[in-house]
Amino acid sequence: MRILKRSNRFYDTRRFGQPQIRVRHRRGGGVRSPSYVLRCGCCSQKLEIFYSDDGLEMGGVNGAIEDWWEILLPLLRIERRGGRLVDLALSHERSANKPSQRAAANPHAHIPRRTPSVAGSRR
Ligand SMILES: [Zn+2]
Repeated sequence: MRILKRSNRFYDTRRFGQPQIRVRHRRGGGVRSPSYVLRCGCCSQKLEIFYSDDGLEMGGVNGAIEDWWEILLPLLRIERRGGRLVDLALSHERSANKPSQRAAANPHAHIPRRTPSVAGSRR
């Protein structure tokens, strides 16, 4: 497996138009699996992903590789068709008449985990 390396500059928007995820790789040792530590490009939030041949643990959640495929591939807009992986983002670009379902990119805001309640909001 190729290990991804990045410059990890803070708030680097050059490639994706929003802050690029900062990536550090940690080698495994003993009973510890190797992992990637992903840090948000705009703040100190982080996620560690441990990996092995038969599973992944992301943020403390352990699952089989196939289990993660089922959850993550649609979110990454990738579809499995037979033995092939299809990039849905590319096939969507071809049908330019369809309105995009993606919200307008706000480079400084995280995608909300839940709808913030209007009542009780402070300024
Ligand atoms: Zn952030």
